Amino acid sequence: MKHPENDDLYKGLKVTTGVAGVPTVNPYLKKRLQRQEYTPAEFVAGIRQGNITILSQAVTLIESSRYEHQQVAQEVIEKCLPYSGKSVRVGITGVPGAGKSTSIDAFGTCITERGDKLAVLAIDPSSERSKGSILGDKTRMEELSRKKNAFIRPSPAAGSLGGVARKTRETIVLCEAAGFNTIFVETVGVGQSETAVHSMTDFFLLIQLAGTGDELQGIKRGIMEMADGIVINKADGDNIDKAKLAASQFRNALHLFPVPDSGWTPQVLTYSGYYKLGIKEIWRMIDEYIAFTKNNGYFDVKRNNQSKYWMYESINETLRDTFYHNPAVAGKLKEAERLVLNNEVSSFIAARRMMDLFLENVSYCVNDRRTLTP
Ligand code: GDP
Repeated sequence: MKHPENDDLYKGLKVTTGVAGVPTVNPYLKKRLQRQEYTPAEFVAGIRQGNITILSQAVTLIESSRYEHQQVAQEVIEKCLPYSGKSVRVGITGVPGAGKSTSIDAFGTCITERGDKLAVLAIDPSSERSKGSILGDKTRMEELSRKKNAFIRPSPAAGSLGGVARKTRETIVLCEAAGFNTIFVETVGVGQSETAVHSMTDFFLLIQLAGTGDELQGIKRGIMEMADGIVINKADGDNIDKAKLAASQFRNALHLFPVPDSGWTPQVLTYSGYYKLGIKEIWRMIDEYIAFTKNNGYFDVKRNNQSKYWMYESINETLRDTFYHNPAVAGKLKEAERLVLNNEVSSFIAARRMMDLFLENVSYCVNDRRTLTP
């Protein structure tokens, strides 16, 4: 298939075809879901009892784009909401190769051994392209996947970043209702996905590597500002001094930022995910942050802001989908684009006409809600 980014317009950028991933929905499970084995009340009861099979099936419904599945999923989420919210949600990001899987395996093993119940979720923007998930794969977290207190779920595979993020946020609700008291949300440190993870977690952990001396280059300021903790991985063997140096550079850089709204000064630590060194210290930092923000009230303020954010995100997404899936609009968009490119009408007038057309035909979507589902 010809990839749009290989167009002449984007000279110098070559996008190769991704390798299709394993489907996230097991075909056997898909068949069972089509038979709709459980009612929403049965799903909720199973989730509340911590039944992992039922929880997984409910998450599969959340991820499904079928209208009937969404109907059941939304009812299950609503019924689980009163039992949610009691976990500590940790966002974990870092560029590919930073050691996220190795670290999550080590962090997760550490906290499940102290008795926590941990769910590992992911937001993987690249799944949109490869149609398969690269994150959350169980084989990457071998030790953790053997723990019975751990639930590892790959990123929802298809859809826009907003759609994938919404599904992950809804999955958090179900996991909390199932009794998971710690949730990790992992993302690859590229693009917009950090913002999405930040908007659904309490603590944002940025994994970094010691490099060639200019560590701070290439890290977007926005990501540093979001971080409540920066941890330098691979502080082992010959790399220990370099990791310490990187840590002091990060500490200096953080001094230049204003104190965040939480009142918490982000900390910088070094560790080795592979050799499991310095893991407890990272967990102590996260525990301290949670206690600190619960004490000064910021914990609840942030959660409330996140709920508000997701309400507006959800409205925006529905509006966008309703607009682009409206048959009257979809039939005329290309023509409007052509007129704009030929300088026959301005972008603004074309947009205005499309909006008018949409508003004249919007009842179609309201009467047939199926068109709302992308
Ligand atoms: P991810 O792409 O961020 O998930 O990174 P991985 O966890 O897959 O790690 C990338 C590579 O770095 C692998 O070869 C790991 O074995 C290695 N690695 C991860 N953590 C450490 C560490 O603490 N020390 C050393 N020396 N290597 C590590």
